[in-house]
Amino acid sequence: MKPDTQTRLVGVIGWPIEHSLSPAMQNAALREMGLNWLYLAFAVEPERVGQAIGGVRGLGLVGLNVTIPHKSAVIEHLDEIDDAVEALGVANTIVRREDGSLMGHNTDGPGFLRSLGEHGHGVAGRAVALMGAGGSARSVAWACARDGAASVTVINRTLERAEDVAELVRGATGLARVNAVGLGSSEAREAVSVADVIVDCTSVGMYPRHDVEPVVPAAWMRAGQVVVDLTYNPIDTVLLKAARAAGAQTVDGAGMLVHQGAISLQYWSGQEPPVETMRRALLAGLGVTE
Ligand code: NAP
Repeated sequence: MKPDTQTRLVGVIGWPIEHSLSPAMQNAALREMGLNWLYLAFAVEPERVGQAIGGVRGLGLVGLNVTIPHKSAVIEHLDEIDDAVEALGVANTIVRREDGSLMGHNTDGPGFLRSLGEHGHGVAGRAVALMGAGGSARSVAWACARDGAASVTVINRTLERAEDVAELVRGATGLARVNAVGLGSSEAREAVSVADVIVDCTSVGMYPRHDVEPVVPAAWMRAGQVVVDLTYNPIDTVLLKAARAAGAQTVDGAGMLVHQGAISLQYWSGQEPPVETMRRALLAGLGVTE
């Protein structure tokens, strides 16, 4: 569809932003949905976040995705936030509502759960071992606790950061069995060995340093476990290869990326987005041919 006077704008803000795969994924979906919208990537300097959000209001954008480093900074410029943003202090989606007010959501946790679900897995009643304590770990730990996980063990190289995530998740969800342990400890090995679901939320194994020892040693994994790696470049990480060799089932990070984007698009459009089209566009952007 050629842009015309009816075309509406939506997009993503970040700094830097030129490597974002969201425009490819979202524009493929918009075309298929027949929406006369255009999704653009905006490089927004940190000191201009407030002005960028003012632009959403002034220009009447449909909404925005928000990525690093603006996920926290946007919040003070919004009119309302959902419970995920309230709990986590980070928003990745802004919706401009009919009355012009701006609502903030976080679709990372729900995107993770949907990705797990489409592989026939879930966290309800399960023991979850989560590696990492950064932004994605927070969202995933919160989503697991909210979705009925029996326990969540946050395992991180820097123990204090794991403790912060565990405390935040316990406070926000009321799940008592959220613990923090250091990566090199015997408790880490124990927690991973008994876990039903292992989620790697670290950046270890990400391109271009993808040929490294995985954060979870192969000897800690076994058949019957589900191992998820959030890293999506490469799709088939060193961790996922090791997990399969140990007999575990695996879920790659592309599904979460697709679903967090699809949930954003659902918020903006009120329609069911074409998830398979988004996945194909993402994989093409990553240079993966199915
Ligand atoms: P982040 O906030 O920078 O956190 C990185 C985490 O990795 C920290 O816990 C850090 O530990 C740990 N880490 C880094 N290097 C390590 C090493 N050599 N050994 C052990 N631990 C190490 O990153 P993030 O935003 O959470 O993203 C993490 C990964 O998830 C990235 O690969 C990102 O691309 C991916 N991701 C995927 C999706 C998706 O939709 N699939 C969404 C978000 C993120 P310390 O605290 O000790 O430094």
